[in-house]
Amino acid sequence: MIKDKITQGLRAAMFNSTKKTEDTNKEQGFFICSNKDGTLAPSRIRCEGETCQIKVSRSPKPCPGEIQGFFHTHPQKLGFEKKIGRNVTEEEKRHLTYTDSRGMESTAQMPSYSDIITIFITKCERYTNGTICTAGDLEPDKVGCWTAKKDSTSHMNCARARVDKMLSRELEGSPKKWIRPLFDIETIDLK
Ligand SMILES: [Zn+2]
Repeated sequence: MIKDKITQGLRAAMFNSTKKTEDTNKEQGFFICSNKDGTLAPSRIRCEGETCQIKVSRSPKPCPGEIQGFFHTHPQKLGFEKKIGRNVTEEEKRHLTYTDSRGMESTAQMPSYSDIITIFITKCERYTNGTICTAGDLEPDKVGCWTAKKDSTSHMNCARARVDKMLSRELEGSPKKWIRPLFDIETIDLK
């Protein structure tokens, strides 16, 4: 569970990023660093907009110790309000679910399939410990964190993820069924 290891600083950085997304309509993100004592803190390196994706084998090293994973936000509010033609209410925000292109249910804080396979590949390459956390500005108090399980990165699973990253046309939808059981899923309440 990463829930118990989140520092106040990480909590604040996640919350501020989601607020900033609401203001800018752009993705905001950073690395989640694992401290020597096992607690988790945000990296100093930040990203915004199109560049906001974890890349494998980047330098300089974003964390002083191990890289637990990556956090980023998804701007959704503006697009959703355009669709319904008015402001979204606080009540609606709490109960929102979407249906993605494959008809699967998704929430504001659910990572995309692309997010999941990308972080999975970074665990296959032992670059990170396999955690991706995402939050959407439609439900800014909640963060979804998916962590690849200890023995999930078999050669077969890693190969499948790499092929799908190149060939799948459904990267923007919710995570595909095959990969979900390979992750521990947590929802973190920032309130
Ligand atoms: Zn994403």
